[in-house]
Amino acid sequence: MKLYSGYINELIDELAALPGIGNKSAQRLAFYIIGMSDERVNKLSGSIVQAKQHVHYCKVCQNLTDTEICPICSDPSRDPSTIMVVEHPQDLAAYEKTGKYKGLYHVLHGSISPMLGVGPDDLRIKELLQRLGPESRVKEVIIATNSDLEGETTAMYLSKLIKLLGVKTTRIASGVPVGGDLENIDEMTLLRALDGRTEI
Ligand code: ZN
Repeated sequence: MKLYSGYINELIDELAALPGIGNKSAQRLAFYIIGMSDERVNKLSGSIVQAKQHVHYCKVCQNLTDTEICPICSDPSRDPSTIMVVEHPQDLAAYEKTGKYKGLYHVLHGSISPMLGVGPDDLRIKELLQRLGPESRVKEVIIATNSDLEGETTAMYLSKLIKLLGVKTTRIASGVPVGGDLENIDEMTLLRALDGRTEI
């Protein structure tokens, strides 16, 4: 016998299916939502629907945005000669929080993982190479993928392709803990990793 009515169970199941939310948290969130005012619930559900409808990948850097070209790519004060390649939008957010990096980005949306069946074609690699064509003003590509096996595999794969195009390729220093997600690393460590980058 299920403890709650169908609607509550459905809500708990949907929340529990989100990353990082276990059954207990899902239950807590579901009861919290039920206790919220109609206005707040409408606002929450509306913002989920709106975000899903309007957010897509930036045509240039593949970061999430609700404009055709994201605010970073369209900012004339950013240095177009450097592209930092990251795995996920939250990695970009971590570097942006430091306020020290003034170049552009490219978001791969993952890393190469034969174990999980993720190959180069599943990532936004083609779009990166397009940005490095003959017309390109890019002088350096900084590969800031994670320092776990998948991140290193991706870095090696990219560096081979980018070097063929005659663009300098660097890798952030391994000050970033192995297996550590970039978004969970403090600003100082991120900046040290960026400053200590070496050509590969
Ligand atoms: Zn962009």
